[in-house]
Amino acid sequence: MGYRTPLEARIAKKATKAITDFNLVEDGDRIMVGLSGGKDSWALIQILDVLQQRAPIDFSIVAVNVDSGYEGYQHTQVAAACQERGWDFHSEHTTIGAVIDDKLESDDTPCSLCARLRRGVLYRLAKQTGATKIALGHHLDDFIETVLLNLFFAGALKAMPARLTSDNGQHVVIRPLVYVTEEEARAYCKERELPIIGCCCPACGDLSLQRQRVKRLIVELEREHPNVKASMIKALGNVMPRHLLDRRLNPIGEITASVVAEPSLIPLTVRS
Ligand code: SF4
Repeated sequence: MGYRTPLEARIAKKATKAITDFNLVEDGDRIMVGLSGGKDSWALIQILDVLQQRAPIDFSIVAVNVDSGYEGYQHTQVAAACQERGWDFHSEHTTIGAVIDDKLESDDTPCSLCARLRRGVLYRLAKQTGATKIALGHHLDDFIETVLLNLFFAGALKAMPARLTSDNGQHVVIRPLVYVTEEEARAYCKERELPIIGCCCPACGDLSLQRQRVKRLIVELEREHPNVKASMIKALGNVMPRHLLDRRLNPIGEITASVVAEPSLIPLTVRS
């Protein structure tokens, strides 16, 4: 069976590479997809459905929609689209929105609290639905924006893992779209006529200002250097810990060895 379009073939190839690179899907898995109704989660479940029909291994998929309780959220559209396609679907109504209003500390952001609360609900639902893995729709642009956000605003050099085991070892979170761009996810949703709905969260517009700025920066850079994104995602898989300043990675003796091995790193003597 071939792919419907060249775009689908390209996305399938990239998702398969991620699955292989990070061992994201295994025989017998039940993959629970966090389906918000945004373009990324739609693209994810659609391509997993396509891959499931072609894969040499057996795995099942269940879509889970976590409704944060914001007025106007069209979760019924998500349910209807899943039903039309024969996808196993579970909807969970929560009061996450109200809890955020209540519990938000001054040093926290709504988005980080929201992410923690949603993660808790997803872990509970994974047990309830018998899922062995939780798949999230983060794509290539999310990965590289997160690196820059952490670099510019959080003083840390980190992105997101493509595969993460929870602290208690009970859950595995996977991100099969790590090599798929946001543009591809958007176009794929349109091509497959998936109904994109907004999260209706009042924070949505303002709180992503830093992310929007980083997005613009990458777009500007890409105009001048079209391979910037490709280079950034490649860099995440090509880390040279000895060329960083983290002493947990580079005990003092190791740094000395590195400098000796590479004379160009020895600072020039400043003469007075
Ligand atoms: S914008 Fe709203 S829904 Fe999205 S992560 Fe932030 S708080 Fe949660």
